[in-house]
Amino acid sequence: MQKTWRDLIALGSSWLEGRGVPEAHLAAELLAARLLKCTRGFLAGHLGKVPDQRYVEAMRRGMARLAKGEPIQYVLGEWDFRSLNLICDRRALIPRPETEQLVERVLKGQAAKRENPLVVDVGTGSGCILLSLAKEMKSGAFIGIDISPEAVSLAKENAVRCGLDGKVNFVVSDGLDDFDEPETVDIIVSNPPYIPSGDIKSLDPRIRDFEPISALDGGVEGLDFYERLVADALNVLKSGGEVYFEIGDGQGEALRGLFFDAGFDDIKIERDWAGRDRYASAKLA
Ligand code: GLN
Repeated sequence: MQKTWRDLIALGSSWLEGRGVPEAHLAAELLAARLLKCTRGFLAGHLGKVPDQRYVEAMRRGMARLAKGEPIQYVLGEWDFRSLNLICDRRALIPRPETEQLVERVLKGQAAKRENPLVVDVGTGSGCILLSLAKEMKSGAFIGIDISPEAVSLAKENAVRCGLDGKVNFVVSDGLDDFDEPETVDIIVSNPPYIPSGDIKSLDPRIRDFEPISALDGGVEGLDFYERLVADALNVLKSGGEVYFEIGDGQGEALRGLFFDAGFDDIKIERDWAGRDRYASAKLA
């Protein structure tokens, strides 16, 4: 008897499980949904049908990549972040759910309510943070910076995909180095590399071997980028301007110190849903 989508998913899921792929059933469903161009919720309507051979082969190719440890997000080639569906490939870090909450914090701040604020996202990667802000804020000018030309090309493709290319600018640059106009920026947001260099080798191989190391390695203590950004923020932020960082577990006190020493106000260190230090923000007086 010919195999249906239901059979294919069940077989795929146990094959993946046998190879140590996490959440194997979910992964098999997501692969099938991607091929059927539907969401997982609409898979039910297809389960009894017999897939074309080309779909069976595409499923096999996807599963082989997963079995080699590649993250599901790269295999699917797209991933959701807040209200956006973004192209997701090895040019940049995979957009993560905790970063959605970084966007939430920016939106709740005072600076986001200003008339036409200038928002700069440093280390923009896929563009997920900046594109969400451009979509969700009432007004503003939005600049995304990344040192990686590959990341910037991906962010630009995502801007077009989301219909936001008229609202955002993505540029290749090293941090805020090209921002020589003082007191022009209302909001700096960044999810910089923050993993201590010595911890990279013990990361989950799905992260370590597939995501760009330059988006993960934050120097000896993981704090290099924050030190630079806090110093640069002092120069480029307008009075009352705000800084929002995603940070790593255990980095909260260091960030509080950096902001305090630089004279920032309203310093906040907040946790993610898992109870880990994850967000640091402050305001320039
Ligand atoms: N949150 C990511 C991880 O756990 C790290 C992201 C970063 O360094 N900015 O792998």
